[in-house]
Amino acid sequence: MSSRSRSPAFVCVVVVATALGLVGCAPETAPTRSSSATPAAPQAPTASPSPTGFDKTALPIDDPASIWVVVNKLRALQPSSYVPADLIATPVPHLNPPHLRSEAASAMAAMFAAAKAEGAGGMQLQSASRSYGVQVNVYNGYVSRSGEDGADAQSARPGHSEHQTGLAADISALPLTCALAACFGQTPQGRWLAANAYRFGFLLRYPADKTAITGYMYEPWHFRYIGLPLATEMHATGVTTLEEFFGLPPAPDYSS
Ligand SMILES: [Zn+2]
Repeated sequence: MSSRSRSPAFVCVVVVATALGLVGCAPETAPTRSSSATPAAPQAPTASPSPTGFDKTALPIDDPASIWVVVNKLRALQPSSYVPADLIATPVPHLNPPHLRSEAASAMAAMFAAAKAEGAGGMQLQSASRSYGVQVNVYNGYVSRSGEDGADAQSARPGHSEHQTGLAADISALPLTCALAACFGQTPQGRWLAANAYRFGFLLRYPADKTAITGYMYEPWHFRYIGLPLATEMHATGVTTLEEFFGLPPAPDYSS
């Protein structure tokens, strides 16, 4: 269905469903919120309407607890000590502790099951949520091996890592093949994830052709949970980075 053929009522229902974070098809009629016979007031226009009617302001991008939070080399987590309140162990094979925020963990488990059911093969979580303190150790390890410039190309500085949000995870193939390497993108698992992660609300966060925007080299193993409505919208519109989708400046390097 083209957007032009949608009736105003249908579009309204979709906008409401999206704003509420509902999953799946929009109901034929909006849910009744009260028994009042007074007609609802007309819905105010969104602050930044997109051609598809998607409301890019529905959730905050600065709040670390928002599933839309944008973290990069120019956008540190505020506060840097942020710890997600609802971390749970994702029930999938894993190497390091598999904790993700509850919503992301459920979606991750469903994605692993679908990958196997659809013939992509087995996978494991290589790394999931990482605290500020753990990221200090990870980053310093890269610095000692590769120097600061080398570390900045491969690892986030503490307070700048998506892993601290509890919404990002590194995935590898089982049996282990090309773990945390660019060639993971050519494995059956890597190909399946690149094509299907959006169906579960995940984004391949660091694409090969957007390193100047994201500030990170191609990471076909790093997936970020952004929720179904946003993942679906980005897939449908062909926008592959959060920076471009939200009109944020490229973040190729730290400001200092
Ligand atoms: Zn990662």
